[in-house]
Amino acid sequence: MNAAGRSDTRGKLLLDEPMARHTSWRLGGPADRYYVPADLADLQAYLAAIDADSDILWVGLGSNLLVRDGGIRGHVIAPLNALRELRLDDDGSIYCECGVSCARLAKFCHKQGLANADFFAGIPGTVGGALAMNAGAFGGETWTAVEQAIMIDRHGGLHERGRDEFEIGYRHVRAPGAEWFAAARFRFARRAAGDESNIRQLLQQRNASQPIGQPSCGSVFKNPPGKHAAQLIDAAGLKGFCLRTACVSDKHANFIISNDDTVASDVEALIEHIRQTVDERFGVRLETEVRIVGEAR
Ligand SMILES: Cc1cc2nc3c(=O)[nH]c(=O)nc-3n(C[C@H](O)[C@H](O)[C@H](O)COP(=O)(O)OP(=O)(O)OC[C@H]3O[C@@H](n4cnc5c(N)ncnc54)[C@H](O)[C@@H]3O)c2cc1C
Repeated sequence: MNAAGRSDTRGKLLLDEPMARHTSWRLGGPADRYYVPADLADLQAYLAAIDADSDILWVGLGSNLLVRDGGIRGHVIAPLNALRELRLDDDGSIYCECGVSCARLAKFCHKQGLANADFFAGIPGTVGGALAMNAGAFGGETWTAVEQAIMIDRHGGLHERGRDEFEIGYRHVRAPGAEWFAAARFRFARRAAGDESNIRQLLQQRNASQPIGQPSCGSVFKNPPGKHAAQLIDAAGLKGFCLRTACVSDKHANFIISNDDTVASDVEALIEHIRQTVDERFGVRLETEVRIVGEAR
């Protein structure tokens, strides 16, 4: 017997797995069933075997997730480094599975002489997470280079979908149905002669402006149209402000930093406080970029 209670899956199933081990804030209660598939075929078998009405949450590197203290009921699917196929095909496109880290995709593209993928190096997540979020940095955005997404449904069926089947916006992607990203096919232009990689420079720029190395989820709020969330939070006097154990970074006002004593409810309370304060001061209702999931304790 195994993972889904059947003998035909080969992945690793963890019961009551603390999500604090799998999020960049290092917060979150236990997941009932945390599944690391052996490969894509194994994930198809797992999804086919579990109850058709059980809840499913996908987690990449957990770098954009606030998991509440009561944890997650149902199944967490964790493809990081498990669904890891990455290759350049004969037609010049890149096939990349969802568990590949964005940093690995950036390095691979650079080695292949491809342009416009450097920005991925600075996104501390998986390609699945980047596809779900339309993650972007330094003028680059994930979906600019997507040609096709390979989606998986809750029964393990695979569907090849063109980009025009998705609703795509700023940190927003809506898939046509209840499906998740198993893989994607990207097409990047070839790097022009003399066009050197600027991965190192981009990472240096990021280190200078963000509290890298402290537990965070990057930007908590989306930028409202024509405005910067960080500037609004700073102007509201909240840079460096702490509520219980969670603090607004004093380096970048759109980052919230946790510490060893922080619980998810502290971060959620601070998010609400920021939202209310900015609304009262400037009449702008900030929308979270971070995804808040799970049950309160
Ligand atoms: C220090 C720091 C800096 C950051 N800088 C940036 C930045 O410059 N730009 C930026 O855009 N983001 C940034 N982020 C946020 C985060 O890295 C991105 O949103 C990233 O794309 C999340 O990827 P992940 O694999 O960690 O996804 P997770 O946080 O694990 O999940 C995020 C969402 O995607 C869903 N998801 C994950 N995998 C899949 C899948 N295969 N199929 C369907 N849904 C899926 C999850 O269910 C969840 O809703 C930063 C975060 C940190 C900690």
